[in-house]
Amino acid sequence: MSRLIFMNDRIVPEHEARVSVFDHGLLYGDGVFEGLRSYSGRVFRLDAHLDRLWASAKAICLTIPLSKEVVAQAVNDTLAANNLVDGYVRLIVTRGVGSLGLDPNRTRDPQVIVIADTIALYPKEHYEKGLRIVTAATQRVQSAALSPRIKSLNYLNNIMAKLEGLQAGCVEALMLNHKGEVAECTGDNIFVVRGGRLLTPPPDAGILEGITRNAVMELAHAAGIDCREATLTRHDLYTADECFLTGTAAEVIPVVDIDGRLIGSGVPGPITARLTRDFHALVRG
Ligand code: PMP
Repeated sequence: MSRLIFMNDRIVPEHEARVSVFDHGLLYGDGVFEGLRSYSGRVFRLDAHLDRLWASAKAICLTIPLSKEVVAQAVNDTLAANNLVDGYVRLIVTRGVGSLGLDPNRTRDPQVIVIADTIALYPKEHYEKGLRIVTAATQRVQSAALSPRIKSLNYLNNIMAKLEGLQAGCVEALMLNHKGEVAECTGDNIFVVRGGRLLTPPPDAGILEGITRNAVMELAHAAGIDCREATLTRHDLYTADECFLTGTAAEVIPVVDIDGRLIGSGVPGPITARLTRDFHALVRG
């Protein structure tokens, strides 16, 4: 099926949606992106995704050539053009065409691209039985080297860890920061339940501050579940009562085994189930 793609100022057929081989997005991974989802025809937390995109762009001194209002409209128009009611949106801003050198000042025409597609979830069984994950030897990149809060087109750090997970037969892998503390998974944030309290690493552990993560923290507060950011070690994970991951694509997914240790009794727990239900109600609400 050929899709319709938004490119800068209009929607074009997929075969016309082309980027130059001189675009620094391709040459250096120099650009930023967002992954969004629409539920029943409404994009979940569109403003938060746009704010994060603009923050990522600001951090790399990239001026997005369109306003937030125009990009929001482009996201909705691209979903509509592809007849998608429940869909996944990839919003990309590249640095644009330049010389072969790194210099971003010698580039022009950042490309603003919106791709809308159906969403390929993890198999249903993973949501029912929970995931098995392993810790990757690849550490999350240090904030002093490159802030993980920038959602950039350079995802090799995460891909290296994802490869380790896949080689161990897992669809996700846990990443630690340079201090050996729990950061996040390759494309998802992590939560644990310990003694009825919900815990998740703080942004300065070296994570992307997930929009699903923030929504789940709000839902926990609303449900009267004590939820806080905390520095976590692998020991805290191994000895947790429950564990789950959050992300736009994955939504809320239980984890029942980490590095061969069963979490709790090895089945998804009640707080995970409660927050999963609340999350589904929220996104369709
Ligand atoms: N961490 C990383 C590294 C990610 O790529 C993502 C997916 N964007 C997340 C966490 C989850 O963020 P969100 O809930 O905003 O999708």
